[in-house]
Amino acid sequence: MDTLLWIGENKNPVKYDRSHDYVMDSVINYYNNKNIKLSYKPLKLFLDNGAFTASTHNKALNKDRVVYIQEQLNPDKTIPLDYPFSRYIHTLKEMIDSWNKTQENILYWQSSTRLNGKLVPSLHAWNKESLKNNIKWLQSKADAEYIAIGSIIHDNTFISSKHLFGDRHFNRTLLEMINISVKYIHQLTDFKVHMMGIGSSPLTLHLAYYLGISSIDSAGYRRKAAYGKIILQGTGERYVGNMQATFGRVKGDLRAEDMEKLLQCKCSVCSVDFKNLWKDFKARAIHNEYTIKMESQIAKEYLESGLDKYEKYLDNIFARSSFNYLWKYAKMLKHNTTL
Ligand SMILES: [Zn+2]
Repeated sequence: MDTLLWIGENKNPVKYDRSHDYVMDSVINYYNNKNIKLSYKPLKLFLDNGAFTASTHNKALNKDRVVYIQEQLNPDKTIPLDYPFSRYIHTLKEMIDSWNKTQENILYWQSSTRLNGKLVPSLHAWNKESLKNNIKWLQSKADAEYIAIGSIIHDNTFISSKHLFGDRHFNRTLLEMINISVKYIHQLTDFKVHMMGIGSSPLTLHLAYYLGISSIDSAGYRRKAAYGKIILQGTGERYVGNMQATFGRVKGDLRAEDMEKLLQCKCSVCSVDFKNLWKDFKARAIHNEYTIKMESQIAKEYLESGLDKYEKYLDNIFARSSFNYLWKYAKMLKHNTTL
């Protein structure tokens, strides 16, 4: 199974040399720019279409503009403009209309742009039935290796589930959504699955890979760094403060075992002096990126050595986390064969 990890980057890159990295960037970062050019050099580029960000502001993107930017930046993978369900969509009819427009665009991107062969179409659904049907539609029409899980409501609760439409909240609903989508996709098609916005902490990264997602991205490593947060191997995030270094006293919410992890961290910041994490956004971003890449490598090795070994590893890391109940729930879902 693949364990791709795309590292979020943008016009103001954390690193200019990305020649060894799989990078995730977005059309939205170039939408109002005259000069559409990457300021870093990626090994591989996955360009998101910006639709989710636009939908949270109730804005529609111009189709031709999105194609233009995608063709200019010439990514290895990109998503045809789609119409995610947002808090501004209230009825079943609006969801069906959104999916119809998404379908039209998938066909248009395949037939009328220079992006065919690089496309990762999105999947949206508003109940179990439409989930199956929309997957089948993609199987028959989409020329793609990967599809992206978008807005999926599988249990007819959309009227009371407005919270589904924001960020990817780490809760039981999200795990159920991933589990049912991945199982149907693997049952009905040969597609591999990408999921946006799930790889920002080691814990969510592992749950995504464990439930069968092959490709994830982490823009969160950078956002967390900007908010003064670091991530630690096998745990969630810790606040270490921002520009408030106090020598001789540990800031933020680090425990003794966290300090131990920082002492052992081999990233280019910590191997010099991990106290630099207290001072500088870029230092935290570099540390966070290193940590999330190591975590992805661990997942890859466990998935290759067998699910039972991976479960033992995850039993261990989640046991010390407040998200242990979610890990137990994910395990139960994974082993439950009724859908
Ligand atoms: Zn480090």
